[in-house]
Amino acid sequence: MTTYFGVDVADVIETMPSRFRKEAAAGIAGSFGYDLGEAGRWRLAVRDGDAALAPAEDLDDCLAVVATDPQTFVGIQLGKIDATEAMALQKLTVAGDRGAFGSITRLFQKYLPPGEEALPETELVVLKQTISVDQTFATGPVMGRFLKGLKEKKILAMRCPVCGRLQSPPREICAVCRVRNTEWVEIGPKGEMRMLEYVYYASPDPLTGETRETPYGAIGVLLDGCRDEEVFWHLLNPAQLDRVQMGSVIDGQVRHGSRLRPVWAENRTGSIDDIQYFELDD
Ligand SMILES: [Zn+2]
Repeated sequence: MTTYFGVDVADVIETMPSRFRKEAAAGIAGSFGYDLGEAGRWRLAVRDGDAALAPAEDLDDCLAVVATDPQTFVGIQLGKIDATEAMALQKLTVAGDRGAFGSITRLFQKYLPPGEEALPETELVVLKQTISVDQTFATGPVMGRFLKGLKEKKILAMRCPVCGRLQSPPREICAVCRVRNTEWVEIGPKGEMRMLEYVYYASPDPLTGETRETPYGAIGVLLDGCRDEEVFWHLLNPAQLDRVQMGSVIDGQVRHGSRLRPVWAENRTGSIDDIQYFELDD
């Protein structure tokens, strides 16, 4: 008698037909193979809602064959090993019709070691509730300083001491050079339009969860003092969506984009919304 998890592997195998929920097997016909290593090879024949198990040398005629070691097999039957995980670890393979094998597997009642009785089915209490928690969190020294700057109508960036690039909103480190940013620089507040995403399908506003009105323009503005890819992302005045022109450099030919200026909110709280949007500076 070989035991795994304190359970006799032969008992787990031999009780398979009695644990088979015949009433649920209507319409299923075919043989399923179990290649369990030193615990032998078995064929489970299902027909007319009946299941018969017999040792088998040859499993070639089976719809699907599962191959695993006895310990994994017992562990899965007891719910101590996750079948999907065992497959990922290649401790269990299924050859043939995986879908059919999956549906057969669900038709077995859980194995209970001799002497253990199934717990009576009890109705579980289910509470459906959305939990909403008011939370406050620190913005940190870097983002905090940037947000405080917005309150004072200043747009701040941090410069990388190695590559010199500016990031705004600022980051504590330059992820390209993997060094800590140290220098604060005020940029803009005016700049040149470099990119425009004309948005027809609104993602929720990350701060409020509300869906924005469409279409709106998400823009990349190259604020004065910045260069190349150092664009600042914000929104464009929706009334000016069709009036702006994007800047570009193609084959050394510079085409300037529209000049934009920020429109500041009257009551600034230290939020990215302290800039309502950018608009044409004409
Ligand atoms: Zn850098």
